[in-house]
Amino acid sequence: MVVNGKEKGKSGRILRVLPEKEKVIIEKINFVKRHARPHGKQRQGGILEKEAPLHISNVMLLCEKCNKPVRIGHRMVEGIKKARYCRKCGEIFDK
Ligand SMILES: [Zn+2]
Repeated sequence: MVVNGKEKGKSGRILRVLPEKEKVIIEKINFVKRHARPHGKQRQGGILEKEAPLHISNVMLLCEKCNKPVRIGHRMVEGIKKARYCRKCGEIFDK
């Protein structure tokens, strides 16, 4: 869920995480229009709509159990991997 900026209050599925840039791309959020020029093998130009990355400080994970954006923590699950979990109810997001 987006908690800041023009898309505030919207939520969607995370499509991609860019850890080195601390950004995420969320499905159907923060669309930007790009004018594409016809060139090379592309048959036509026109307007392309694409999700633009959002900085992670502007998004929060939505906990399905709490039904609201929550703070997340990290912990080891079954001693093998680091998982994100809801600090409120303890729900684990990475399974
Ligand atoms: Zn929760």
